[in-house]
Amino acid sequence: MTDTPPSPADPPEKETRSASGGLRESDLDPETRSKTDRVTVFMYALIPLLAVAAAVPFAWGWALTWVDVAIGTAYFLLGGLGVTVGFHRYFTHGSFRAKRPLKIALAIAGTVAFQGSVIKWVADHRRHHKYADAEGDPHSPWRFGDDWKSVAKGLYYAHIGWLYLDDRKTSLKRFAPDLLKDKDIVAIDRWAVPIFAVSLFSPALIGGLITMSWWGALTAFFWGGLVRLAFQQHVTWSVNSICHTIGEENFEVRDRSRNVWWLAVPSFGESWHNLHHADPTCARHGVLKGQIDISARTIWAFEKLGWATKVRWPDAERLNAKRVDPQP
Ligand SMILES: [Zn+2]
Ligand SMILES: [Zn+2]
Repeated sequence: MTDTPPSPADPPEKETRSASGGLRESDLDPETRSKTDRVTVFMYALIPLLAVAAAVPFAWGWALTWVDVAIGTAYFLLGGLGVTVGFHRYFTHGSFRAKRPLKIALAIAGTVAFQGSVIKWVADHRRHHKYADAEGDPHSPWRFGDDWKSVAKGLYYAHIGWLYLDDRKTSLKRFAPDLLKDKDIVAIDRWAVPIFAVSLFSPALIGGLITMSWWGALTAFFWGGLVRLAFQQHVTWSVNSICHTIGEENFEVRDRSRNVWWLAVPSFGESWHNLHHADPTCARHGVLKGQIDISARTIWAFEKLGWATKVRWPDAERLNAKRVDPQP
């Protein structure tokens, strides 16, 4: 069984910013995004949200069954951990090494969350770390300025707008050369659209088979497909918007990443975002006492099972040196 390299020899997120701090032409794909592509992404962001809006007045109570809750939760866990443990901590930052079957499973599970294909996700995120909250960051809430109107506009842009308002694409060659060389990952990346379709429609199939009814299929599609997707989208997007705006700065960073405790459980530990920017390759983001980090616990389980090795667990001394208020 071969281990896959955790990250390129010189991962882009480790590079220091250029003297001007600005985006370079080579950071972007020479091709721009078509209008159709951007409208599709806009619909993808809007439709699950409309489902949530409809869910509250119409479906709550009488059209939600335990089968729907179980299906929605299972998909939320699968897609969510696929993104946090797979796309983020493993593929983007190389926090551990994964055996090949785990690597493949993580790439597929992350795609289930419907947040773009694995290589694109990783490239955008590495670019975010390289330029965090400076010119070139694909989704900084501070891009329009510091006054409240600019921050309100920036929050909208960082949360959701960047997905369809920006017509420039992050260069995959520049930010994810390691993944472009990995045949397994390139294949899964190409299969992203069919995986999205399975993620969206298979809850209906499962719900229909369990209840043996069309109605069961419909409610499972609604809750396990659309509402679950909306919830997952907004949790991830909140890390980009809220966790770069409000919260605690426990560790010194050159950007405006913050730790937000109330998002820790739904984001599976990703909202300990201030620590993450202070120490991006660390496998655990919730490093302080009482900080719940479900993704770190999952990586711990993979390590115990022998599927993950060389896990970069927190180093107390290194972290203390980065503390805003170093402990004695
Ligand atoms: Zn960030
Ligand atoms: Zn990151």
